Formats: sequence, C-alpha cells, structure tokens
Amino acid sequence: MATVIIIGAGGVGRVVAHKCAQNSDVFTKIILASRTKAKCDEIASEIKNVKIETRSVDADNLIELTELLADIKPAMVINVALPYQDLTIMDACASYGCDYLDTANYEHPDEAKFEYKHQWARDEEFKEAGIMGLLGSGFDPGATNVFCAYAQKHYFDEIHTIDILDCNAGDHGYPFATNFNPEINLREVSSKGRYWENGKWIETQPLEIKMVWDYPEVGPKDSYLLYHEEMESLVKHIKGLKRIRFFMTFGQSYITHMKCLENVGMLGIDPVMHNGVEIVPIQFLKTLLPDPASLGPRTKGKTNIGIVAEGLKDGKKKKIYIYQVKDHEECYKEVKSQGVSYTTGVPAVIGAKLMLEGKWQAKGVWNMEQMDPDPFMEEMNKQGLPWKVIELE
Ligand code: NDP
Repeated sequence: MATVIIIGAGGVGRVVAHKCAQNSDVFTKIILASRTKAKCDEIASEIKNVKIETRSVDADNLIELTELLADIKPAMVINVALPYQDLTIMDACASYGCDYLDTANYEHPDEAKFEYKHQWARDEEFKEAGIMGLLGSGFDPGATNVFCAYAQKHYFDEIHTIDILDCNAGDHGYPFATNFNPEINLREVSSKGRYWENGKWIETQPLEIKMVWDYPEVGPKDSYLLYHEEMESLVKHIKGLKRIRFFMTFGQSYITHMKCLENVGMLGIDPVMHNGVEIVPIQFLKTLLPDPASLGPRTKGKTNIGIVAEGLKDGKKKKIYIYQVKDHEECYKEVKSQGVSYTTGVPAVIGAKLMLEGKWQAKGVWNMEQMDPDPFMEEMNKQGLPWKVIELE
C-alpha cells in the first residue's frame, strides 16, 4: 500500500521496524534511516519476512533530510529519533509533501522544557501542504491520550479528573540504567513537577508528590507526580476537565542514583571544560550508562500504563480505570526489545497504519485524542497491546 521511512534506529526504532514488517500489507516498502547506518543494518538483519532498506541521515540537517525524502518518495515519516529533531523532520515533510508522525514532543537541546507550541505552529503549513502530522503516537503520550478519548466517547458526559499512571516494574539487574534515551529520561524526571487544576498549572519540586498505587498484575508501587507532555493537549480537548495529573513509578535505587548524579552536576545540560575539551555532563553520562537498547535480554517483569478518569454520566458519578499490561520478556521474544521500547513503538505503528489506511486522516497537525479512539483501541488488541477497562465506581 505505501512506502514508509522510519527515522531513528534506537530501542523504539527497532520495534517500529519489526512491527511495520509484521504489517507488510500496509507498509509495503520500509526504509530505516538514522545517524549511524550500522545500527539500521543490524535491525534490518533481524527481520526476515521483508527486506528493510537502510540509509544514513543527519535529521538535524533540513537539506539532507529533504533530499532523502525526495529520493525515497515515502507516503509518511515515522519519527523515532530524538525530540530535538521533531521540527526539522516536520519541516522536511512539509517541504517534500508527506505525512508525519512522532512519539515525543519537541525539546530544544539547550533547554530542558517541552511544549507543543512549536509543533502546533506548523498546523497551517501542513494544511497548505495537504499533509497530516500526528503528534505523540507512543504510549504516553499516545495510547494514554486515546484512553482519555475512549473514556470520553463511551463512558462519560463530562470527565472531571484524570490521573495518568505509568508503572514500569521491569528489573534489568543494573544498579542504575534508564529504559529509554538517558538524556531525555533524566531531563524529564529531574525537572520540576507540574499538574493542572481549575484552569491553572501548579508547579511542584521534583518528585515532591508521591502516592502508592496498586497496579493490576504488578502490585503496589511508589508513584511520583511529574510533568508530562500529553497533559498540555488533553486540557484543551477533554470536556469539563477540572484536574489532570501524571504519575510514574520509580524504585528507591533509581531515585538515590539520580539525586546523587544531580548533586554532583552530572545531569547538567550546559557545556563544561574538561582537560581542555568541552563536554556536556548529561551527554557524557549517557556514554557511561547502559544503552537502553541493550536492556532487552536482561529485563524481567511487567509494565502497566493506564488512566483513571472520574466524572459524570447521566447525572451520576462514575470512575473508570483503563490500563494495559505488558511483559518485558514477551516483548524481547517477539521483537528483541524490552517493554518500554515496545509499548512506545507499537502505538507509533498503529497510528501510522491508521493514517495510511485513511481511518485517521485529516490535514494539519493533530494530537491523538482528537481522532476517533475506536480503531486505535481495536488495533491495540490485535498488535500486542491488549487493554482492560475496570469500573471503579
Ligand atoms: P534512542 O536514543 O535509543 O534512539 C534514538 C535514535 O535516534 C538513535 O538511533 C540515534 O542515532 C537517532 N538519532 C539521534 N539524533 C539523530 C539525528 N540528528 N539524525 C538521525 N538520527 C538521529 O531513543 P529511543 O529509541 O529510546 O527513543 C526514541 C524516541 O521515542 C525519543 O524521542 C523518545 O523521547 C521517544 N519515547 C516516547 C515514549 C512515549 O511513550 N511516547 C516513551 C519512550 C520514548 P545514534 O544511534 O547514532 O545515536
């Protein structure tokens, strides 16, 4: 049906390549491009049912990227490089004229702050180019936004509160490692927390608010309030919302290591001089830490990510929990990646599939909850991410 180019050959890129190949009736030609071509070749060699073409590209370079697109002529780009590349890749799609999808909100490398305004600002340009941009089609953002839209469509007249609950109970056996890109992960977790209540954003100190949540199939876990990007679009699109928060689980060892690294300056994003060479501490730390893509064969345990929504239906109070549980070892067996990459990569492929099939098609730039949730929820069940709904009240 269509040619697709995947940009980024990390943990998530591997899952996206494998899953596109599993859906080769939709993704009839698959190109995997990244900064380091050898990583693309390694992934391509794991996939036997179809031939994956590989290319090298610097996605920070608009001209190089646009030339690559003109050469390949894809129907769409699945961007699973880093959030720093989002704008360049969006601009290349607009200039060449193909659809765009990503899993993470644009961030500038010099400022640990993510917001949608730069990507939303490209809405007119995308409309004029006659193309679609789908933002945040991972798990969170991504499936969690769709869960909110599904709750709104099928369970509520008005949703008053949403808690997004992200638990990774996987154990990789290292004292400290991050499950996705360490730089992006540590910037997110060590930043101030933020949630939205009664029309205002309320800021907290990093990891200041903690609760214990009993995650089905996992058990009770310490869960910390963080700012997370999907809240920015959900407050615009969910009717009647009064409060939205995001919680993520961390074990004590992760927090102790992170605090220590922060206290000695290793999470810094400003360059420092070391023996006459300029280095960025957090980038150096990334070099030292285990590559998230290498955690796959070592990680045991489950992820459980979901939303709890409370509100009104036919004048009565209602509370539901929609969640998805995934086993890390099962993911590795299927696509040679741990669960965090899997739960991000599969929704990216589902979003891309729905766009190419025309089930999710609209010109301009869109967030996930603006689309009809039903076909996405259906695909989750088929593509390895079955979910459950529990009525709590
Ligand atoms: P990795 O660091 O493992 O992989 C990133 C890949 O992008 C690497 O192959 C890297 O190349 C490549 N890359 C980086 N810069 C460039 C560039 N300028 N040009 C071309 N390629 C480049 O990250 P992950 O796979 O863990 O994460 C991928 C994305 O998924 C990130 O944006 C992350 O924030 C997002 N994510 C989203 C989640 C969600 O639920 N929504 C959850 C987890 C992650 P090289 O190997 O040469 O460095």
